[in-house]
Amino acid sequence: MKCPHCGSEQIIHNTAVCQQNDVSPIGLRYRKAKVFFGAEQIYADLCADCGTIVRQYVKDMSRDWDLGKGEKKAQ
Ligand SMILES: [Zn+2]
Repeated sequence: MKCPHCGSEQIIHNTAVCQQNDVSPIGLRYRKAKVFFGAEQIYADLCADCGTIVRQYVKDMSRDWDLGKGEKKAQ
């Protein structure tokens, strides 16, 4: 993997994005039960040379994601 900004191949994988601020968890929102939501941990790959976040991803794709109004789930 190459950094799209500086072209470096020094990529640090699997850095965890902070999951908590003062008010609420940070992450992709999914339904845990009918009325509760969870926040899936986001991971990032980081360019060691310029600090660009090259990629962001989650590790569990099977969540019941909280989609915006009118959005359809991927088939
Ligand atoms: Zn870079």
